[in-house]
Amino acid sequence: MNGYNIKDRIFALAAAAAVSAALSGCGSVAASGTEPAGTELADAQLADAQPAASQEAEESGFRIVSSFYPMQVLTLNLVKDIDGVTAVSMSAPDIGCIHDHTFSTEDLRKIEDADVFVENGLGLETFNDRIKTAYPDTAVIEAASQVTDAPADEDEVNGHVWTSIDDYILEVKHVSSELQTLDPAHRDSYAENERIYTEKLEKLKSDNSAVLEKLRGKKALVLDETLPSFCVFAGMDTITIETDHEQEALSAGDIAKAVDEMKEQGIGMILISADSDSSAADAVAAETGAKVYRINSCMTGEENADAYLTQMQESFDILSEIE
Ligand SMILES: [Zn+2]
Repeated sequence: MNGYNIKDRIFALAAAAAVSAALSGCGSVAASGTEPAGTELADAQLADAQPAASQEAEESGFRIVSSFYPMQVLTLNLVKDIDGVTAVSMSAPDIGCIHDHTFSTEDLRKIEDADVFVENGLGLETFNDRIKTAYPDTAVIEAASQVTDAPADEDEVNGHVWTSIDDYILEVKHVSSELQTLDPAHRDSYAENERIYTEKLEKLKSDNSAVLEKLRGKKALVLDETLPSFCVFAGMDTITIETDHEQEALSAGDIAKAVDEMKEQGIGMILISADSDSSAADAVAAETGAKVYRINSCMTGEENADAYLTQMQESFDILSEIE
């Protein structure tokens, strides 16, 4: 943890989020139970800054702030061509998973005048309690609140559910329905945008039914936390090693164990995220002869409404090469 630096105007809040993430790991919904030093100051700073900002909001229409890239892509589809509604992301589109990031003052200020904060939920936004305390008037939409099949082990839910197209559709529908309630003036437009987008997502599924058929029951080693939900969606049979998105973090022992298990089960396929390093995957592949597939998990990219459709299609194109 090295994010706390006054000179860089990094909030104590951000440091607290980083500490909490380091303690609990990405996607964990288990409470860390630790109250890092300095958070009181951060809350006070955030609360102080609020009144002036709220005034601006009233003048600039209905403002939606999303937590990170996949939520921003989702939101952009729902607000398309609606006058008076804006959607910005709290995070730059290239930061990767949100728990890895230390937020700057400028990032957090974006929430000050927001009417709504759209988050994935399921524990990915480890800092959100502090946001709720500092900005009690900002509504929070937890996109994944209707998802029931998030992968989990004994004590941890994996919140990276948007890589399941079915779960992503649930997220789109839930965010849309909440926006319709919170901003009734644009109810019909949100509903129409939801209809158009879910139709495209259903088409993405049907266009790739042949690849999905090939993937069903396929065994794979999964080395990135964004991909288990995709594998559940595709009906694959996987073994997963917790990486926190960093394959470098895997020990020689972890790798040896993966190699043994793959040999035992005859697994010839390794899935990693396109935006992660491939060091561990390459090591396992060298020992087992398995093939490494780099899958786009819509965690980083260009900020445009079609990014999820494009990235998922690229992933299907890569996976279509399997036997
Ligand atoms: Zn993550």
